[in-house]
Amino acid sequence: MTVDRQYFEAMEAKIPHGKVRTRFAPSPTGYMHVGNLRTALYTWLIARNAGGTFILRIEDTDQGRLVDGAVDVIYRTMAECGLNHDEGPDVGGPVAPYIQSERRDTYGKYAKLLVELGHAYYCFCEKSESEEDSGEFGRAADPCRDLSAEEVAAKLAAGMPYVIRQRIPEGSTTFHDAIFGDITVDNSTLDDQVLLKRDGLPTYNFANVIDDHLMGITHVVRGSEYLSSAPKYNLLYQAFGWEIPTYVHCSPVMRDQQHKMSKRHGDPSYEDLKAQGYLTEAILNYVALLGWSPKGEQAEQEIFTLAELVKAFDMTGISKSPAIFDRAKLDHFNAVYLRSMAPEAFAKVAEPYIRQSVKDERYDAAAIAAVLQARCEKLTDIPEKVDFFDALPEYDVEFFTNKKSKTNPEVSLAMLNAAIPVLEALEQWTNESVHDALIGLAQQLEVKNATLMWPVRIAAAGKLVTPGGAVEICQILGKDETVRRLRAGAAKLQA
Ligand code: GLU
Repeated sequence: MTVDRQYFEAMEAKIPHGKVRTRFAPSPTGYMHVGNLRTALYTWLIARNAGGTFILRIEDTDQGRLVDGAVDVIYRTMAECGLNHDEGPDVGGPVAPYIQSERRDTYGKYAKLLVELGHAYYCFCEKSESEEDSGEFGRAADPCRDLSAEEVAAKLAAGMPYVIRQRIPEGSTTFHDAIFGDITVDNSTLDDQVLLKRDGLPTYNFANVIDDHLMGITHVVRGSEYLSSAPKYNLLYQAFGWEIPTYVHCSPVMRDQQHKMSKRHGDPSYEDLKAQGYLTEAILNYVALLGWSPKGEQAEQEIFTLAELVKAFDMTGISKSPAIFDRAKLDHFNAVYLRSMAPEAFAKVAEPYIRQSVKDERYDAAAIAAVLQARCEKLTDIPEKVDFFDALPEYDVEFFTNKKSKTNPEVSLAMLNAAIPVLEALEQWTNESVHDALIGLAQQLEVKNATLMWPVRIAAAGKLVTPGGAVEICQILGKDETVRRLRAGAAKLQA
């Protein structure tokens, strides 16, 4: 049985050449963890930096792991992050299809080609399903390794079920990785892995190699958990006589020194981080620096837009050592991004969070956003920060005492009693008019501004820490509510 050479020639003819081509090849697990997102980002950056092509390929050979809607999570995340693909299941391309389950017929043909080339063999031994799925089992003296062509033909003709296994040669294999350098392994440590299973479907490792070649991938960027499979990949490329792509294995993202981030342990996915109040841009910027560092003039730079990353990215800056996901650092990036947003843009993202606790529409969300912008690390912090607008909390009279502002209960009572009529008399209620009235009053009373502002702010908000000062809070509350709260404060102090 000879395989059809024309088929292979036609497949070869489709492969684009001459440009950098990278692919992100997620398995649809329904969850884009931080390490995955980083792989997608680095892969995209390598392509974009080189003016190359970025491909999305869905690796769903392992049907057991399919999760409903999982592919949508991938599309959604990539689109939100601005990691656009030039070829993929939804947009097509010259080497379609881009979903492994739609490429089934291809793999069998290549497995048989490899048998013809002498680098794979039919194996008729009974194997457990898990051995087949993983492609892993002891290589030791498989009787099928040395069957004659006639024996094989006879078994096939008799309809005996088989798998196709890679014939690992004697000797050693050296492969090169852009991050880890040259790695040499003794071939005796590699097993004759299954390439094609009894049901005719490929194993994960085989499909991956065939697709990378047929899609003309020049740089294979992936997690370092695949490093140990790389020698077998190399041998497959060599067996077919194909050019070996540049391997770029990235060390894992860790929760702490010992543990990789994992869904099982509740570590956040991209979508979880969004839900926890982080901005996409901040997440991406942080993730970019999680295991990569810029060089030269930009060596100290931390804040990068995606466009700046495209220019600066160089895979030699990817680190060999695992990176630890640092929540405080991400908070810092997020705060920087929130602060640098245009006020209208910030108001737009903040409003839903403001309205979680400020239901009273009389209070202007944009004005609240304006006082929040400089004082917010995560969007999810917002509801708790502004809850006092809707309802004045029960607060401790002790709040009125502040050494730095030179206030105590007596002073505070005097200040509130002085402020109430002044504010009540204001015709216009703007930041400026409230500010001028209070500053004027402090002068008149010959006290520090803070001595007046402190009790006004405490009475208006009922909280020690507030976004915005007394003036801004009063302005947003409006005259009636401000006066009502200041009176309540005075009453509390008198009691
Ligand atoms: N499908 C693999 C994963 O989701 C990617 C392997 C690769 O990029 O080669 O982990």
